[in-house]
Amino acid sequence: MEVISTRGGGEKLRGLKAVLKGIAPDGGLFVPVSFPEINWQHILKAVEKGYDAAAAEILELFFEDLTISELSGLAKLAYASFNTPEVAPLVPLKDHEHILELTHGPTLAFKDMALQVLPRLISSGLTVLGYTDDILILTATSGDTGKAALEGFKNVPRTSICVFYPADGVSSMQRLQMVTQEGRNVGVFGVKGNFDDTQTGVKTLFADKAFNSEAAADGYSLSSANSINIGRLAPQVAYYIITYARLVLDERIKLGDKINFCVPTGNFGNILAAYYAHKMGMPIGKLICASNHNNVLTDFFKNGTYDANRPFHKTISPSMDILISSNLERLLFELSGRDAKSICEWMKSLSENGSYTLNYDEMKEADELFYAGFADEDQTRDTIRSVFEKTGYLMDPHTAVAQCVYENYIKETSDDTLTVTVSTANPYKFTTDVFKALTGVEIGDAFEAAVELSAITKTEVPPQIRDLREKPILHKSVIEIEKMGESVSDFLGRL
Ligand SMILES: *Cc1c(COP(=O)(O)O)cnc(C)c1O
Repeated sequence: MEVISTRGGGEKLRGLKAVLKGIAPDGGLFVPVSFPEINWQHILKAVEKGYDAAAAEILELFFEDLTISELSGLAKLAYASFNTPEVAPLVPLKDHEHILELTHGPTLAFKDMALQVLPRLISSGLTVLGYTDDILILTATSGDTGKAALEGFKNVPRTSICVFYPADGVSSMQRLQMVTQEGRNVGVFGVKGNFDDTQTGVKTLFADKAFNSEAAADGYSLSSANSINIGRLAPQVAYYIITYARLVLDERIKLGDKINFCVPTGNFGNILAAYYAHKMGMPIGKLICASNHNNVLTDFFKNGTYDANRPFHKTISPSMDILISSNLERLLFELSGRDAKSICEWMKSLSENGSYTLNYDEMKEADELFYAGFADEDQTRDTIRSVFEKTGYLMDPHTAVAQCVYENYIKETSDDTLTVTVSTANPYKFTTDVFKALTGVEIGDAFEAAVELSAITKTEVPPQIRDLREKPILHKSVIEIEKMGESVSDFLGRL
């Protein structure tokens, strides 16, 4: 696949090269020049062989510079650390409702699905494309990306990684997962600010010429592990297509039937992958975009205005506490009829005024395909409790946001199309909030809450959480936003 920038600058690039670059030189995001078609017979056969084989088929559509056997090997290694051979199991909840569990990777969040693949794509890409520089990954995280990226990149040859997280904006398990990270090539920094400040700080570094030259002098090109990297999008497209194929093989649907996906959304990366799968030929009824109290996307889909001028809420689904959803730019590109000029204007307006507005025609496709809703904190807690009471299924707060929005969607529309709600984190990453949602009781200590949660739900504490308590804290820095560049320089000096 060849890609271009959403903002019209630069030339066409091959997909693998775009993975190494991360963001386009003009500040835009890389998007396919045209969408490849899914060959369903091919995919159905591959899915019968297993998740890795099917994922490799889909990755090949994006990255033809790697052979199918290289990609199969890569997918096999990437998903070997998952705790189930299905990789992404589909769990029935009720008649038309299924939960797609993307939570079985090493860090217990859906980010693993892509971040176990991305470092291997980068490593292979450096070799295949003959790069002499190594890659320095800079990543802002709202909680789960950071740990998943650290786990994916740790000790990967010719890569180093710095992760920045909002110091007071992640759950205590999420923070502990990051600050205990081992590996010779990793740096972790708390930042005094929220996620949007942190993400803007990283974007500023990418655009900073002096900073880039300094890294180049040390032998590094910068890249990103954030969901703007097309190397993250491709493995995400894969699980949507594979899920659809499994439903066909299990005779839950016929090839060609439409299904809905309901996705808990923050940076718009996960749901965008479903949209891309649709563009590649996966039949979809509705894509349900679920937000938490930070409901900027809900308003956007309702009235065509994206307006980030609003209070930032810290919620119990912190990985969705985002007011600037970067990946939306890729959807806008399609909605505008691939008009880079409009994208530049909207993004300029977003950075200057915090808002932009699409017209009626531009929103037409979005209206047909997307439904958007949000769940506030009480609704999220109620959903965790009611789903557990009714079905025995334990959800994390992010998944519960999606479930709540789906339930509202059903009340509004009575749509009985088979719907897959995407589960994005294991509940044990958010033990205090999940326990409180179930019992109304507040337990201060996250580990104590894990033990209690396990006792009342008869579910196991995952080893990744259980063992966290004993691990030494290796990364203690909490820095001002202005010090992010300096911290990276210090980190490179220490390598
Ligand atoms: C990152 C994340 C999300 C949001 O995904 P986006 O791709 O940013 O929309 C939702 N839930 C969890 C648990 C996450 O880690």
